[in-house]
Amino acid sequence: MEQTTQRTELSQLGEFGLIERIKQKVTLQNPTTLMGIGDDAAVIDIGNGWCQVISSDLLAEGIHFDLTFTPLQHLGYKAVSVNISDIAAMNAQPEQILVSLALSNRFSVEAVDALYEGMLAACKDYKVDLVGGDTTSSRSGLIISITALGRAPKEKITYRHTAKKGDIICVSGDLGGAYVGLQLLLREKAEFSANPRMQPQLEPFAYVVGRQLRPIAKTSLVYELADLGVIPTSMIDISDGLASELLHIAKSSQLGVVIYEDKIPIDRQTYEVAINEFKLIPSVCALNGGEDYELLFTIAQSDYEKIKLHDDISFIGYMTEAAQGCYMITRAGQKVPITAQGWKHF
Ligand code: ADP
Ligand code: MG
Repeated sequence: MEQTTQRTELSQLGEFGLIERIKQKVTLQNPTTLMGIGDDAAVIDIGNGWCQVISSDLLAEGIHFDLTFTPLQHLGYKAVSVNISDIAAMNAQPEQILVSLALSNRFSVEAVDALYEGMLAACKDYKVDLVGGDTTSSRSGLIISITALGRAPKEKITYRHTAKKGDIICVSGDLGGAYVGLQLLLREKAEFSANPRMQPQLEPFAYVVGRQLRPIAKTSLVYELADLGVIPTSMIDISDGLASELLHIAKSSQLGVVIYEDKIPIDRQTYEVAINEFKLIPSVCALNGGEDYELLFTIAQSDYEKIKLHDDISFIGYMTEAAQGCYMITRAGQKVPITAQGWKHF
């Protein structure tokens, strides 16, 4: 076989480009595989009108977390939340997780205990069973890979590619908090390394720091939507920032998006920390920050009456034709394109 000498840097493709390239090479062979690469979770037909949804996420030390300010219990909890969030994004109920660890000898048995304490607390909260995994050594640092499994009736599964023109764009909870929480933690770390006797001053910012360190997946919304009789027309979880996730729904549904800056839900503490501590624009933190693990979804206009009074859901815009592009109307009434920051890790 001819060896190619060409070398393309990963950074040229970006994370999404790389996933797209892998996807192009894959041909699905089993009719039970209803969704492969390209959504928050794969969807497998398990018969009798039910589907299994499966998703995997990996957290690497130094890339996704910094142990100088992340307690291991919180890290364990977060690692589970991140995965359960992808199951919720399919409108499915999580049931099991598998946990794989790569550990360097820097870690003690007690450290692993602390990590599992957090993971098992999350399992209890989400009512999921930890059913297996794998353990290996690592030359440097800690890597946590979790696979989550869930289940839903076939007709209730929500994909990214099924939004319709005119659908209302909804978001759960509030956004931007995890990002400003991270900025506070990074600032405390820098100040501590300059002056190790300094005491952390994070108590007044407990909400946003908690959003960063110990996020909670919105499985509750899956049950609430079912009670209200609403099946979203599309859904995705907000792991990379509102902008990036809006573009995923728009692109896969072959539609455009209009959202309104003043409708983006932002908690008061997020707002104040963004402006007062970092001179950041709060809506930019929501659009490009990421790690909020809220749900972004679309509903048919005819379902609006059923959920308009839900106090954890904000209505931020609607789906348009693809030719209209993806835009935000700012508070000042300007129309600005929504752009994804895309890619952070390579
Ligand atoms: P999310 O942010 O919701 O976890 P990702 O952006 O990580 O989703 O992944 C998008 C899609 O690409 C998913 O279907 C995921 O399973 C798939 N994917 C990601 N990395 C790989 C890979 N290395 N090989 C095959 N599929 C992948
Ligand atoms: Mg996701």
